[in-house]
Amino acid sequence: MLNEKLKILVVEDNPLNMKLINVILRGEGVEVLAAENAEEGIEICKTCQPDLVLMDIQLPGMDGLEATRIIKNNKQLNHLPVVALTAHAMEGDEEKAYEVGFDGYITKPIDTDTFMESVRSYLKPRLK
Ligand code: MN
Repeated sequence: MLNEKLKILVVEDNPLNMKLINVILRGEGVEVLAAENAEEGIEICKTCQPDLVLMDIQLPGMDGLEATRIIKNNKQLNHLPVVALTAHAMEGDEEKAYEVGFDGYITKPIDTDTFMESVRSYLKPRLK
């Protein structure tokens, strides 16, 4: 069991996806930090140091690729695992995601049966 409450930041502009992810994570006792855009997400990374970041790629304004590039180029933030939420598993997307420094990706639509398993696989060993 976890001694401390797990904090996961979700950067997602689609309210339905955000709601679904919230329901799953909260059901597992996770504290959810929510951001609707990249700028807000980066700010929360700085102030809250989440255990994991789930980052939508397509966001209004700055996209998830650019936001992840910024996180991974920041010495205070680059230890945070960042997992892409990709709308379509398009050819080349995976490669692009790893290029900017994503630690992995989860494909949307969210599969409620496997989502938590995927999330756990991206957490640091002490938090699994
Ligand atoms: Mn989006």
